[in-house]
Parts: sequence; C-alpha cells; structure tokens
Amino acid sequence: MTTENHRQLIIVGSGPAGFAAAIYAARANLAPMLLSGLKLYGQPSKTATIENYPGFPTGVEGPELGRLFEEQARTFGTEVVYDAVQKIDLSQKPYQVHAYGATYTADVIILAMGTEYNKLGVPGEKELEGRGISNCATCDGYFTKGKNVHVVGGGDAAVEEAIFLTRFAESVTIIHRRDALRASAILEERARKNPKIKFIWNAVVEEVRGENTVESLVLKNVKTGDISIVPSGGLFVYIGQKPITEIVGEQVATDAKGYIIIDENMQTSVPQVYAAGDVADPRYRQVVTAAGMGAAAAISATHYLETLRAD
Ligand code: NAP
Repeated sequence: MTTENHRQLIIVGSGPAGFAAAIYAARANLAPMLLSGLKLYGQPSKTATIENYPGFPTGVEGPELGRLFEEQARTFGTEVVYDAVQKIDLSQKPYQVHAYGATYTADVIILAMGTEYNKLGVPGEKELEGRGISNCATCDGYFTKGKNVHVVGGGDAAVEEAIFLTRFAESVTIIHRRDALRASAILEERARKNPKIKFIWNAVVEEVRGENTVESLVLKNVKTGDISIVPSGGLFVYIGQKPITEIVGEQVATDAKGYIIIDENMQTSVPQVYAAGDVADPRYRQVVTAAGMGAAAAISATHYLETLRAD
C-alpha cells in the first residue's frame, strides 16, 4: 500500500452524519477523506423538504441541504471522493478500505452508511420495482401526475411523502396496518386536512399486480381477513429502514436489529472505528441527531489522533 493512499481519517457515507464529521475533522486539520457511497447525501437526497433542521425557518429541500453540507466540508479541506466502498478490513492497522476505484488505508474510520428502506416482500414487488413501485417520492413524484397512487406505512416518512405526492397525484391513499398513525402530530394533522389524501386502515399489501407498471394492489384487512383488489397508479413503500452494514460484516458489534453498537465516544467495538448517524441510531434518526453524532465522532477521532501525535 502506497503512502499516497493512506489517510489519517476516512469517513464512509455522505449523509448528514458523514458530512458533519467531515466538517469537524477538516476544521481540526485532519484532512479527512469522505467516500460518498452510491447514494450521495443519503436520506436527505430522498426527502423533498426538511422542516425541522435548525437554521432553515421555512424549510430546505433535502438535496439542497446535502449540497450545502458538501460545500461546507470541502471549504475546510475535506477530500470528497465519489466512490462506493465494497469492503472494509479491520483485522489489522492501518485499516483497509476497499472502494471500487482504489484501496485506501486509514488510522481512524468513521462509519456513516445510513439505512435503506425495507421491502414489503410480496409477489410483484421485485418485478415492478422502479416501474411504479418506489421509495423516493422526491425522485418519482412527477410520474404520478394525475394518477391515484398509494403509500404504505404509518410513520413520518410515509405521511410526509404522501403529502409531497399530492403536488402531482390526483389522490394519495395511505395504507396502514393499524388504525392509528405512528407519524408526528403535525404531519398527521396536515395529512388529515389534505383533501387529496385518503386512508385505508388495518390493511396490508399482499401482492402488487401489473404488466409493465403497477396496475392494482391486493389488500388484506388484518382484522377481518377480507381480501380486496384496488386499482393503483403507483406504490410508494415507507415501512421503516434497516442499517447498511454489509461492508463491515461481523467485524463490528451490532444489536439485534443490525444497528452498530457505539459507546459514549461514538466508538464501535473496534478501537478507532467510530459510527454515527442512522447506521448506529435505532432511536432518533433525525437529520439533526445524525449531524450531531457525526460531529461527536469527529471530535473523538481528533482526540485520539492528537494523543497519537503527542506520543
Ligand atoms: P418508522 O417510524 O419505523 O415507521 C414505519 C411504519 O411502517 C410504521 O407505521 C409501521 O407500522 C409500518 N410498517 C412496518 N413494517 C410494515 C410492514 N411489513 N407492512 C406494513 N407496514 C409496516 O419508519 P420511517 O417512517 O421510515 O421513519 C424512520 C425514522 O426517521 C423515524 O425516527 C422518523 O421519525 C424519522 N423521520 C422523520 C421525519 C421528520 O421528522 N419529518 C421524516 C421522515 C423520517 P406500525 O406503526 O404498526 O409499527
């Protein structure tokens, strides 16, 4: 391994946690490298408007917030590399980070790979993924123009994106497996007041049907067991997320749901490997908390590298 491919700190992931870590580490003169992954800007890139990130009283578009994070990180000297990591080897120091374009070594790593959306796991889903089934209303909302579409889920993501889809769609029906939403009160109130939003309660999607695009959904009422078939012009699935940890495999400890376990310094079970943001947060998963975790991880990394230099 050449020294030119060695960095003190490599950050994996380009969401709020990754970029906040980069801003702090760059300002501490660590010259961090940030490997973006395939989903540049992570979750915000799939969010139309973010209304609860401090400093933006009228909200900010998710992709724009990501762009601002990147600009700020670059301003202070972060090397942003648009490449995805295939595998990380933590068995020896320096740690090895195998990206598609090159292999790097690092003294310290911050893992900020975020989460990915859960799938329904029903017939028709795989076949119609990207052809009427989506989990990115921001990306695919325009294609729902004039259609009657469905959203599955009852959390913040489902309700927020359903509201966004009403900009284009004729109607948006939220299908939820219970009769009460999990989403925050403000979003629920907005959805209930929106004349384009309807609800189907106590129902799950059993099958998605269609030739080349989504045409109908087979629904099951979980209380009565009744099956119904509803015509649909598109399906947006927001039934929670799971952490993206394949690149580290079982080298770092995770909880029962696969979230990376961290201590109060944001350190994982492996020394000098920190984790931040949704990949290590089964609880809050907000842009602001992810950014805070990224900052904390970078501060811990800085302290470690300073003690190394002092030795
Ligand atoms: P979530 O809060 O975990 O909600 C997932 C929803 O999907 C729940 O309503 C759940 O039903 C339902 N569900 C789960 N598995 C299902 C299945 N197999 N079939 C049908 N329905 C299923 O996930 P999220 O909405 O993606 O949000 C994740 C995190 O990001 C949360 O912490 C959320 O607050 C945050 N977030 C915040 C905002 C915001 O602040 N504006 C926006 C987006 C996301 P049950 O309710 O019955 O469990």
